[in-house]
Amino acid sequence: STPKTTPKYVAAIDQGTTSSRCIIFDQDGAIVAVDQREHRQIFPKPGWVEHDATEIWSKVQAVVAGALANAGLRADQLSALGITNQRETTVLWDRRTGKPVHNAIVWQDTRTAALCNELGGADGQDRFRDATGLPLASYFSGPKAAWLLDNVPGLRARAEAGEIAFGTIDSWLIWNLTGGTDGGAHVTDVTNAGRTMLMNLSTLQWDPAILSAMRVPEAVLPEIRSSAEVYGTAVGQLAGVPVASALGDQQAAVFGQTCYGVGEAKNTYGTGSFLLLNTGNRPVPSKSGLLTTMGYQLGGEAPVYCLEGSIAITGALVQWFRDQLGIISAAEEIETLAASVEDNGGAYIVPAFSGLYAPYWRSDARGVITGLTRYVTKAHLARAVLEATSWQTREVVDAMYQDSGVQITSLKVDGGMTANNLLMQHQADVLGVPVIRPVVAETTCLGAAYAAGLATGVWQDLDELRAHWKRDAEWAPRMPGEVREREYAQWRKAVERSFGWLD
Ligand code: ADP
Repeated sequence: STPKTTPKYVAAIDQGTTSSRCIIFDQDGAIVAVDQREHRQIFPKPGWVEHDATEIWSKVQAVVAGALANAGLRADQLSALGITNQRETTVLWDRRTGKPVHNAIVWQDTRTAALCNELGGADGQDRFRDATGLPLASYFSGPKAAWLLDNVPGLRARAEAGEIAFGTIDSWLIWNLTGGTDGGAHVTDVTNAGRTMLMNLSTLQWDPAILSAMRVPEAVLPEIRSSAEVYGTAVGQLAGVPVASALGDQQAAVFGQTCYGVGEAKNTYGTGSFLLLNTGNRPVPSKSGLLTTMGYQLGGEAPVYCLEGSIAITGALVQWFRDQLGIISAAEEIETLAASVEDNGGAYIVPAFSGLYAPYWRSDARGVITGLTRYVTKAHLARAVLEATSWQTREVVDAMYQDSGVQITSLKVDGGMTANNLLMQHQADVLGVPVIRPVVAETTCLGAAYAAGLATGVWQDLDELRAHWKRDAEWAPRMPGEVREREYAQWRKAVERSFGWLD
């Protein structure tokens, strides 16, 4: 092996739903420094969720500066920068001024539910599924862009005249990082483009038939590139650093968890939870309510596809319990409260705050609490909050099996909620397989850093990355099978009660 003369560092920006993070990694994939800042959640109406893209860009710049300072490094000591981002969140901006024309519409926002119904028409929800792998749902970016073009006065004409740029958060950041109004690169990667519902999964290009059905002018769209290549060189505080990867956060976690083989899966527990299974170089269609989606594409190599089970609300239910109900004052307190009782007291919470995603895709669903009696306390509800995450995951794992025939034998996990032991134990219990967490639980950032480092020669190949993965904790299933199945039946009854609330 070649002697390591100067140590190499790779930075990753994770622009998430609730916060922006920058992590600097060394060549062993170990964390050198972190910085993180939250941004505002804007709720203009029930079901609507927005972010201020300008605020996001300034938080990103702040965490980059913070991470460099914490590491005691200068920008010119970074070999590459990778980007990972909350997916589907949609920004339209003015190419000349660099200003967003409206708040970003966040992935969880349901304002396009009626538009999606209309778009389905006689063909229904699966009109574009063959081409895109996705059902028509308010989750995806294309209809969000269409909504903005129809609702911001004068925007459609400006868009058709080429004055407006569309982007998911990766595009917005790369454009700003590489110069913005002064020649910024307007690009996106296949994993993010694949969540617009505008990209064809086989050609990896914008699909003209869908663009015209959704009335999104081609003039607004970024160029689709692979997930690991140099898109441009940063200016400003990161001047000279190659911007060398972009991956949607869940795909970045697949990459950071080193799920490079067919049949390898991970589940990330953040605001929502997202279980992705690597299906190799071929997209596998779903009949069970999963998404067929991109895994990653490394430069000119063949793309890797995944099946994905997306759950809109998991950690966000803990936030709701904390912020809207005020029962706890910090997310981690939920574990102590839940552990003060032995079970859920018969209560189930179905957090259908944004409708239900996988495997149901019901935009008419709204949250319900079932099984209430005077016996139920806030501690039982705390349990029900946590159990909502593991039951939703169980439903996705069942769907994966139906679609792929792959029966998982363990589950690699990561994300903020994996700090919760009670939840991880319950997850192992209801899946009946061990749940395993790696040492570097920041797999989203790690995946973006890995991809950027591969594109710039910091790492040579996937085997080198695999060798970095190390186990930190493991939970083995303990719940008797008959208890599991009885409670699962209760959960599914609760889910049925959540349907049909949209007027
Ligand atoms: P994201 O990247 O989506 O912003 P993170 O991976 O940072 O999410 O995880 C944050 C989420 O995890 C929040 O929704 C929070 O409520 C939840 N969370 C954090 N710590 C705990 C805990 N100890 N128990 C349960 N949930 C937690």
